[in-house]
Amino acid sequence: MLRCEDLVDRVLAYNPKAEVSMLRRAYVFSGKAHKGQTRMSGELYLSHPLEVAGILADLRLDVPAITAGILHDTVEDTDTSTEEIRGYFGEEVALLVEGLTKISTMSFPSAEDRQAENIRKMIIAMVHDIRVILIKLADRLHNMRTLEYLSRGKQIRIARETLDIYTPIAHRLGISIIQRELEDLCLKYLHPDSHREIAAKNPEKQQEQELYVREISSLLADKLKELDIRAALTAMPGNLYGIYKKMVNRQVPFERVYDVIRVRLITERSIDCYTALGLIHNLWKPVPGKFEDFIGVARTNQYQSLHTLVMGHKGHPIKFEIMTEAMLRQSERGITTQWKYKKSPRESLEQKTERFAWLRNLLQWQKELLDSREFLTSVKEDLFPDVIYGFTPQGEVRELLKGSTPIDFAFNIHTEVGKQAVGCRVNGRPVALDHVLRNGDTVEILISEDQTPKREWLRFAKTPKARARIKEWLRAKEKERSTEVGRDILKSAFEKYNIDTAVLDDETGFQELIQKLGHHDREKFLENVGYGKVTPLLAVEKLLPPREFRRLKKKEEKQRKKEPRESPGVGIQVSGADDIFVHLASCCCPIPGDRIIAFIGNKRGVSVHEIECPLIPELDVNPERRIEVTWDPEARIARPVRVRVQVMDKPGVLADICSAITAHEANIGKTQVSAVGENTARCDFEIEVRDRAQLDEILLAIGKTETVISVERVKGIEGTKLSTA
Ligand code: MN
Repeated sequence: MLRCEDLVDRVLAYNPKAEVSMLRRAYVFSGKAHKGQTRMSGELYLSHPLEVAGILADLRLDVPAITAGILHDTVEDTDTSTEEIRGYFGEEVALLVEGLTKISTMSFPSAEDRQAENIRKMIIAMVHDIRVILIKLADRLHNMRTLEYLSRGKQIRIARETLDIYTPIAHRLGISIIQRELEDLCLKYLHPDSHREIAAKNPEKQQEQELYVREISSLLADKLKELDIRAALTAMPGNLYGIYKKMVNRQVPFERVYDVIRVRLITERSIDCYTALGLIHNLWKPVPGKFEDFIGVARTNQYQSLHTLVMGHKGHPIKFEIMTEAMLRQSERGITTQWKYKKSPRESLEQKTERFAWLRNLLQWQKELLDSREFLTSVKEDLFPDVIYGFTPQGEVRELLKGSTPIDFAFNIHTEVGKQAVGCRVNGRPVALDHVLRNGDTVEILISEDQTPKREWLRFAKTPKARARIKEWLRAKEKERSTEVGRDILKSAFEKYNIDTAVLDDETGFQELIQKLGHHDREKFLENVGYGKVTPLLAVEKLLPPREFRRLKKKEEKQRKKEPRESPGVGIQVSGADDIFVHLASCCCPIPGDRIIAFIGNKRGVSVHEIECPLIPELDVNPERRIEVTWDPEARIARPVRVRVQVMDKPGVLADICSAITAHEANIGKTQVSAVGENTARCDFEIEVRDRAQLDEILLAIGKTETVISVERVKGIEGTKLSTA
């Protein structure tokens, strides 16, 4: 087991002013928390967080990151709370541990490709501090190193997940030392036979390469010295997984992988890289098209080097990678090399800026990656503001649009879950269905078999899928209802004209009837009657002798004149129909001059709304229900509208406003006054006006009254509530 003091020494070696007392305290704290716990290897549990901290020290991370490494499993695996960590080690460490706990508590049930991609995105999107990912990588590396103690099933699952999720992340961050070790360990557990073969044969090949490189080195040495360039040549260390992938991709046996000898040439200055390149191209013939300058244009993960392929010594193709010491470090440690230390133990402004620079760098990479369509691009919230990720309680990742609510989440899981959603818990806390979800939320949908989709869900459902499913359902329901209503309407019409209603239940008889009327589909016919598009009188007419029909119709009309129908003239013309019952919607109270839109209701009739009525998105689900209407220019009818006035709370105020209204020949209906704040009051009026022009004059007059702060027309549900209050 790594001793605490060894860890402290390692950190002091690269960061002499490090506040190592924090590491010692974390060691004691973690030891107590994990007391009595052991690893599958039989070792004390504490050995794991300490090894993780050791890996972080090798990456030369700062003290808070290493401290968080020592504490990384305390919140998840012991009864330590984040609050305790915050109390003992401060906000920075607590946030790191919190981030790690969050990632650890997700379990990825299936790491199939599409899911893996989402999880990678998710992890990057979730963390606010890249150090969380670095600690997670170190954690995974140590778990992979000690994987032999777990069951075969677990070995495969963890190795698969590592290869799908964590090695690509290590690669994006440019930390090839971790990436390569993880890959080799994955190979060992996922393809043990291949691993065994490559591991057995590789050392000999490596040795051959070393010998060959020594020969090249001696050929180059004098010329390099002449040019005053200090350089070291080494054979490229082989990564077993890399060899395996070449064998699989190229369908070649192990031996053929080494057809090309790979040599790394390390110089002191970047200008020397180019000089050395010239020298190599002078000695051996370069293969056309195989030269790449990653110093001039770095790779997206900041990798820099010159690559060239030459037909070398003894006819062997040699691939050279030429770079400086610093570039080598960058290629192995990626983003961690950008970490700088300040002498003071407390983080200074400069250090903070440095840290942000680091993050900026990552974002920059992401921007560059955008072009190459690599995964990191599609991630960070700043760059991709419209996507968020949420978890199911089982830890599955779901991608949603920003602004999504539990309803969206429910439909994302399954249409049936969406339809039956009655409630939701986000991160364990109950929330309303219109609650806006945030990135990383764990969302549990509560369902009930009695639930059905609600029209109001359309107000907060954000994703196209959820909206489409809700509308679909409402439309189907509406059709059903219209058919029923249509049946009822026919039935009562038949009764009125003394026709036997049995025809409605006689399938062939009814079919014959509607065919006489030029219809084919029985359901569709009933639906149209229900919508009010087809009058039941047409059917009645077909079923009665013409004289009888005329007689009864006249009688019926007389009756209607005696007791006027509930539909008063509202001054609306419906195109193509004049016997439809029309009413002005009470939610928005449209008046002539307003732009209007109308829908055929479920009950017989049409409701007319002002075009900006907030209920329209909910109502407008079925294009078939929309109907053309216009104001009747002849009608002069007083119609109610609601007006809200904010006033200074002074005596006589109400009288002033009322006289402003009545001076314009409008009637005042309901009035309601309520105090808001100390010196202001709110007055809600329902007044009757002819049209928009009259209303505008009244609003203007009220606005001119001395004590009035503001005046507005009120529409929508809020208005409805107020006028009836
Ligand atoms: Mn761990």
